[in-house]
Amino acid sequence: MPIELTNSYAELPERFYAPVQPATPPEASLIKLNGPLAERLGFSLPELTSPAGIGLLAGADFPRGLTPVAMVYAGHQFGSWAPRLGDGRAMLLGEIMAPSGVVFDLHLKGSGPTQYSRGGDGKATLGAVLREYLVSEAMFGLGIPTTRALAVIATGEQIMREKPLPSAVLARIAQSHIRVGTFQYFYGQKDREALKLLLNFVLARHCPEAMEAENPALSLLKTVMERQADLVASWMQMGFIHGVMNTDNMSISGETIDYGPCAFMDAYHPATVFSSIDQQGRYAWANQPAMAHWNLAQLAQSLLPLIGSDPKQAAEAAQQVLDGFSDQFQAAYETRFARKLGLGQFGSHDGALIQSLMAEMQEVGADFTQCFRLLTKGWQQDDLSELRVVFGNSSAFEHWLTRWKNRLKQDDPAEVRTRMASANPIYIARNHRVEQAIDAANDGDFTLFETLLKVVAKPFEEQTEFDEYENAPREDEVVRETYCGT
Ligand code: AMP
Ligand code: MG
Repeated sequence: MPIELTNSYAELPERFYAPVQPATPPEASLIKLNGPLAERLGFSLPELTSPAGIGLLAGADFPRGLTPVAMVYAGHQFGSWAPRLGDGRAMLLGEIMAPSGVVFDLHLKGSGPTQYSRGGDGKATLGAVLREYLVSEAMFGLGIPTTRALAVIATGEQIMREKPLPSAVLARIAQSHIRVGTFQYFYGQKDREALKLLLNFVLARHCPEAMEAENPALSLLKTVMERQADLVASWMQMGFIHGVMNTDNMSISGETIDYGPCAFMDAYHPATVFSSIDQQGRYAWANQPAMAHWNLAQLAQSLLPLIGSDPKQAAEAAQQVLDGFSDQFQAAYETRFARKLGLGQFGSHDGALIQSLMAEMQEVGADFTQCFRLLTKGWQQDDLSELRVVFGNSSAFEHWLTRWKNRLKQDDPAEVRTRMASANPIYIARNHRVEQAIDAANDGDFTLFETLLKVVAKPFEEQTEFDEYENAPREDEVVRETYCGT
């Protein structure tokens, strides 16, 4: 049976997308298939790995009846308005309904130029593709909503970046690829009819319950706001920095999308930025909630024509939803950080407890992940000496430990342990490990990639044979800058 895909997005009017032509890579070969994911989606593995399957995943060969498209969208990039972006190096192959009944987009990245390439080559480096694979699977392992990598296809082609590099295509799935920027595009075009069609499409796919709401557009705004507040809190809980939270990279589904210059931070500092192009620190770790809020305001603006016919009333209603963001985010952040400290409930003094620890961590440049991991391990083993060393055996930290232990007297120790162990990962996709894996893969060796993938897929489980993956980078291994992986 051939691979069955539908494409309901391609049934929308033609101004929603551009058709794409297959680009035939010189030598498409399968580098990696996410077998467990493929099975969960109901794909037949022999079919997906057959020459026809690989041709499809490389964007080289479309079976009859398939209508792949490049989606159009706009966006604010670092605050500047770009009226038309769109999939410049990507395409939507179609949708698949998993046996669970959930529908996913199947999307290719690096599959060649489209009508929206704006002078770019439409390609992706193998390094960027592997980076997305590793980090998105790490996010999935951490329980964070995310797009997921299904396969990597090598093209057999070198592309020119700062030097010639091997190129690849990433096949990935998402609940959809509709972004804040998709709504912005049609708002910018003053195309109310298209906005309405997009709204209905999104409601049916992502929040059918809102279709019955008194004001479906407002209800969508509220749902997206809640999902983004929780998503950003979950990033911060894990020390994750998205790096390029432009409105075209914020998904309506609430999944983490667009793994470009993203990174997990090593040493804790709230102003940490990795992206080489984020000179102002716009998307720094601690700035992410403010930026999500800003993006949501752009979504609200684009939805105004659908929220109500009276512009003033519509704006007031939208503002009311937006005003809920801070509380929504704060509650999500507090719940998540309370769990990191083992607390069952977030009490009135707990904000200060969290703050003091973070201030001490910043002071000594403690490794974010390792610090919470040592706290977890120290509690389990009733020996916090390793963590004391991190803080230079300071009296300030000793004081904090006393406060924390006093606070936990109200809680059952076993529950504290469970909470901490499920909120504080042992392994993250550390930058230096990702870079090492990519360097080796560029030379044709995928061992490090495979090992790292295995480790980060189970971030909360001790994997004693991979102990060293817990470690922070040595000074000479620290990666300070990441690049918008094209
Ligand atoms: P990003 O911020 O990385 O998501 O990319 C912003 C825009 O640039 C999107 O419209 C991408 O499709 C486009 N883009 C990025 N890299 C390339 C490339 N190599 N060729 C064509 N378009 C690209
Ligand atoms: Mg993008």
